[in-house]
Amino acid sequence: MPSLVGQTHSNLKNQSLGFSYHEYIRTKLDINKETYVVNIPAGKTPFKLDLNIAVSGKGSDGNSCSTTITEQFTRSDDFYPIAELSIPSNAIPNTDKYKPFSMPSPTAQGLFLATSQSNYDDNYQKVFVNNSEGYFVRKPPSTIRVGLFGDVKSEDYETIRDYIEVLAVVAPDLDIAWANNISEVTLPIHLLSCTELINETADQYCNTSGPSGSFSDQWGSNNLAPGWGFIRISDQPYGSRHTLTHEFGHAMGLWHSGIDNTSMGPPNTQAGYWAAHDLMSVALIHNPLITSGQTREEIQTALNIQGDEVQGFINNPATLSNIPDSPWVEMGEKLKKQFNDSRNR
Ligand SMILES: [Zn+2]
Repeated sequence: MPSLVGQTHSNLKNQSLGFSYHEYIRTKLDINKETYVVNIPAGKTPFKLDLNIAVSGKGSDGNSCSTTITEQFTRSDDFYPIAELSIPSNAIPNTDKYKPFSMPSPTAQGLFLATSQSNYDDNYQKVFVNNSEGYFVRKPPSTIRVGLFGDVKSEDYETIRDYIEVLAVVAPDLDIAWANNISEVTLPIHLLSCTELINETADQYCNTSGPSGSFSDQWGSNNLAPGWGFIRISDQPYGSRHTLTHEFGHAMGLWHSGIDNTSMGPPNTQAGYWAAHDLMSVALIHNPLITSGQTREEIQTALNIQGDEVQGFINNPATLSNIPDSPWVEMGEKLKKQFNDSRNR
């Protein structure tokens, strides 16, 4: 198990921007053997973490007990992959792909969606941004460097490549690219299976019996690894981009909505691509006049959005599903086609 003096496993996960997820390993001991030789596991990522090595067992009464054999075992550099991150050639984005694109003006609809969250219905609530509650926008830093770690498939690289390409036109002020070295990573995406050990010790939301995902921002934290936040994606079925698309949307500032057939909307109709509403909201969040933590009212003023239009959505949130401006619909259609093509390959 990964270890860091004075930290719980849940803290360690945040301290390490999620890199600790990869270091939970449990193997069965052969109790018929008098001596048992354990190979020190190699690091799955270049992120360096010490290990606690423990033996645990379950008695005939069903109670478990555990003894730590070695605390804070430091592995030498040869136990880790090299710090350079190699990006496969199919993952290199073409940032001119959607150019020219004429960006529609920000709307009250986008503003509402960017500053509140629903539990996938028409009841929209305040959000938490940097430990404060309110109708706030959550905007990532203007520079993001992404890395994929763990059981990464070629299609995962392609999913992120596709979003880097679309962000080049919907969020042109955002500098997002692949990290070339572990030291550059500010948004690691961890792809791993949820094991009982992870579920018990580090992350109760890591679901051992189906797909799950999470995004955790790391606002102003004084962590071991600085960065914007981290994504965990577990057991996403082959040919499905839903979970990664949804969590990446959170990392770009999106909240849950009650709008069907969008990436951030209700799970039973959730799109595996950014639909018009998702795109419109991403664009508003990444407008250069917007800073993270701004309120709905401040943004309304900064972007010259009509107050009565915002009030209209407050009075009748069901109208948030109204169809956005046509460039968003057209872009959403392109991404839907891309999503379908990626599944049919
Ligand atoms: Zn979510």
